[in-house]
Amino acid sequence: MKLFKIKLNFLIIYLFTSIGVGATSDTIKLFKNNQLVSEIDTIENNTFFSINDFLVSTDSKPFISEKTEKIVFYINNQKIKLTNGITFLLIDENIYQLSSKVVKQNNEYFVPIDSFLNIINSSVKSLSIMFNESKILISVKPNENNKPAKNIVAEKNKWRFSTIIIDPGHGGKDPGAVGYRGTLEKDIALDVAKRLEKKITKNMKIKTVLTRDEDIFLKLGERTKIANENNGSLFISIHANAATDRRASGFETFLIGPNKNEAAVRVAARENAVLELEGFSGKQLTNEDLIKATIAQSAFASKSEQFAALVQEEIGKRVQGKNRGVKQAGFYVLMGASMPNVLVELGFISNLAEEKKLRSSQYREVLATAIFRAVEKYEKTLNND
Ligand SMILES: [Zn+2]
Repeated sequence: MKLFKIKLNFLIIYLFTSIGVGATSDTIKLFKNNQLVSEIDTIENNTFFSINDFLVSTDSKPFISEKTEKIVFYINNQKIKLTNGITFLLIDENIYQLSSKVVKQNNEYFVPIDSFLNIINSSVKSLSIMFNESKILISVKPNENNKPAKNIVAEKNKWRFSTIIIDPGHGGKDPGAVGYRGTLEKDIALDVAKRLEKKITKNMKIKTVLTRDEDIFLKLGERTKIANENNGSLFISIHANAATDRRASGFETFLIGPNKNEAAVRVAARENAVLELEGFSGKQLTNEDLIKATIAQSAFASKSEQFAALVQEEIGKRVQGKNRGVKQAGFYVLMGASMPNVLVELGFISNLAEEKKLRSSQYREVLATAIFRAVEKYEKTLNND
């Protein structure tokens, strides 16, 4: 139980009352230019820290709106804005994504430490921050009158291709689409995802993470959380399609974006339907949600597009089916991914002929190979940037 908070730069010691009954509270120490500045309250086993405490180190007074639960503060003239319950973080006019939502507890705002510091590190030029389990070390770079040069190393690292997140759609109590002959989308997706994972692991020096490797139910939000926590460089969600028109067939790859065509909206509605199983019944993505999500994704949009085009091209080379192209719509599962991301619809299991193909392991192997080749080619485009 923590009782003291030391703010050395004001030479004042505050006496704090303990938090809730039975609540354990921890702290980490914050050093600025090698001097102990403050202790910072943490929650969730030191994975979230108090922004209010952190600001002591930056001599910044936050502006807090109780009504909208927003906290606004400045670090060296850069305006930072956080909202309770939201993963988005605004620095000046740029949107960044935290790995988890901001939590408000006893009038303090808590953020996931790792992702918050990573964002601050790469976007607030005057600070350099290091973090290990119990200590945060901040060094303030001396004021330079000349404009700071763009941090090329940080820029490069942002796109460093190190981890691929493979997300087999659906699972457990959510079968996804059900085929003409009873084929389940969740099974097709998992099989192709595992084949893809094997190929990448065998042939490339890249870490792979499957969001699920068995038949279990996973909330849509958990999938992107896994992706963000593993610092994914690319997120591939794998699905199979269905339509009421049994003649519909072919493969297509989706990006997140404002709804532009009806067919794409129908696919997104079907893929988002699982939200009802998660207890969000009736919750639809509003246009505003989508616009926000699209802006949040703008940093990854061109990479996502490049990869999507490669997937379509590589599948197209290998199978007879119809190439339906790259499309965009409001896919909830892609919304929170802080990395380039796509959703691949391998084919229509509602189409008798295509379902038959998808039931063949040889065909699924061809699809996995196609996506794998797309990954290889995508990596090459990164190296050439
Ligand atoms: Zn699906």
